[in-house]
Amino acid sequence: MGQPELHIDLARLLDRIETLGAIGAIVGVEPEHRGCARLALTEEDKLGRDLVVEWMHALGLEVSVDHLGNVVGTRAGLTDGPAVMCGSHIDTVASGGRFDGNLGVLAGLEVVATLNDAGITTQHPLAVAFFTNEEGARFAPDMMGSLVYVGGMPLEQALDTVGIDGSRLGDDLESIGYMGATPVPGAVPRAYVELHIEQGPVLEAEGVRIGVVEQVQGISWQELTISGESNHAGTTPMSHRHDAGYVAGHLMQYVRSLAADIGGHQVATCGAVTLTPNLINVVAANAVLTVDLRNTDEQILRDAEQRFAAECDRIAEAEGVTISSRVLARFEPVDFDPLVVDEVEAAADSLGLTHRRMPSGAGHDAQMLARVCPSGMVFVPSIHGISHNPAEDTDPDDLEAGANTLLRVMMTLASQQKDLQ
Ligand SMILES: [Zn+2]
Repeated sequence: MGQPELHIDLARLLDRIETLGAIGAIVGVEPEHRGCARLALTEEDKLGRDLVVEWMHALGLEVSVDHLGNVVGTRAGLTDGPAVMCGSHIDTVASGGRFDGNLGVLAGLEVVATLNDAGITTQHPLAVAFFTNEEGARFAPDMMGSLVYVGGMPLEQALDTVGIDGSRLGDDLESIGYMGATPVPGAVPRAYVELHIEQGPVLEAEGVRIGVVEQVQGISWQELTISGESNHAGTTPMSHRHDAGYVAGHLMQYVRSLAADIGGHQVATCGAVTLTPNLINVVAANAVLTVDLRNTDEQILRDAEQRFAAECDRIAEAEGVTISSRVLARFEPVDFDPLVVDEVEAAADSLGLTHRRMPSGAGHDAQMLARVCPSGMVFVPSIHGISHNPAEDTDPDDLEAGANTLLRVMMTLASQQKDLQ
C-alpha cells in the first residue's frame, strides 16, 4: 500500500497499561495477579479518566467530553471531515483486570504517539475515544456510553439511571467533573476499530495471534420467577409437590441440553438462582432463575428462546407451578462491516501474524458504533481465557501484535480516498 513500515513502541504501551492499572489496583488470589477496580463514575474512574485525558493533551489531541462523559481525542488530518476512530472503555468490573477495555484506548494513544514520532499526518483525522460505563457493573445497561453516543438511548434516560448503590448516574457524572459540553448523539466517525482482549480461550488454544472479529453474538437475558408451594420435606409425598426448586434445577439442565442440541455458536447459561425459603427440610415455594442465551444468528437465537419457553410451559404444567419471565436484556447479533473486517485481516497478514476470523462472545462498544459507521474489531489472546478477574493477562508480544495491527488498519482507513460506505 506504500505505507511506511511503522511499529508501535511496546515499552511505552506497557508503561501506560501499568500506570493506568495502578489506579484502583487490586490483587488477585495469587500475588502476581494485579487487577483493577474502577467502577464507572467512581473516584477511581475519575482518576483514570484524568490520567488518560492528560496523556491525550500531551499527544496534541483535541479533547472533547460529551454530555454523558464520553471522551474523544482527535488528531487532525490533511483534510477535514469525519475521523477514523478507535477506542474502547476504561471502566472495569469490581474484580477486573488491567487489559479489558483499557488496551483498546491505550493502544489508540500508542498509534497516535507512533505517528507523531514519525511526523506523519493521515489524510483523514484520527480519533481515540473512551466510552462511559461500558461494563454496566454499577449502572445497567452495559455499553451505555456508546449506545447514547450513537443515539440508541435518550440522554435523559441514561442520566436518570439509578445504580446498584442507589446513586443517580447524572449526579455522579457531574460530581466527578465529566458532564461535558459536547452534545450527544456524537459525530459519526468515518470508521471505528476496537482492539480488545478476546476474554475467551480460542486464540490461545489454537496458537493464533490475532482474532479478526466478524460479528458479535446476540444476547438474550431473562429472569424467571417460579412459584410453587412450600411444604414439609418429609411428609409431602412426591406426587403432591409443587416444587419450585426442582423446576429451577430442571430448567438449568434443560438449557445445557438445548445448547448441545443446537450446536454451533449456541451457548446457554443459568448463572444465578435463588430459592425461597432456601431451607434443608422445606420444599421450595419460589425460585428466581436467570437465563443467558447467545448466538451469532438471530433466527437460531429466537428458536432457542421459543424452545426454552415451550419447555417452561411443559414443566410448569407437569409440576403444578407458575412461571413468569422478565426480559433483562436483548441485543440482536451484529455483523461488522466486511471492508473493515478485510482490512483487519490484511493488516495482520502483512505483519506476518497468524490470524483467524471469529465471533465475539462478549458485548463491546464496537457493536454500538456499527449502527452508524463501518466498524470492526481486533482480538488478542487472553492467557487461559480469563477475564473480569485480576488474573486477566495477555502476553506482551500479543499486545504488541494487536497494537501494530490497529496502527496499520487505522492508517489504511485514514488514507483511503474511496467511500467506505
Ligand atoms: Zn471490555
